[in-house]
Amino acid sequence: MTVGLDCAKCANPATNGFFCLERPGQDPMAVPKRRTSKRRKRARNTHKTAPAIVIQTCPQCGTMKRPHRVCGECGYYAGELRVTPQEA
Ligand SMILES: [Zn+2]
Repeated sequence: MTVGLDCAKCANPATNGFFCLERPGQDPMAVPKRRTSKRRKRARNTHKTAPAIVIQTCPQCGTMKRPHRVCGECGYYAGELRVTPQEA
């Protein structure tokens, strides 16, 4: 039992000798019960890698383009001219 170590802000006895965790008029914050270990944190973050950008050749002109997108060179998509390409 601590003696003479009350909270400096309220009348509650503080367990750490400084301030107690009680905030008058506020609900107590949600605090994790356990520290997340390095292994657990790194295992969670393995799913956060950015996916690799897929590049395919355009079947119309042969330049590299991303799939499911109109070709930036010839303007073709699915065998049809969808966008008229402009001169840069
Ligand atoms: Zn093309």
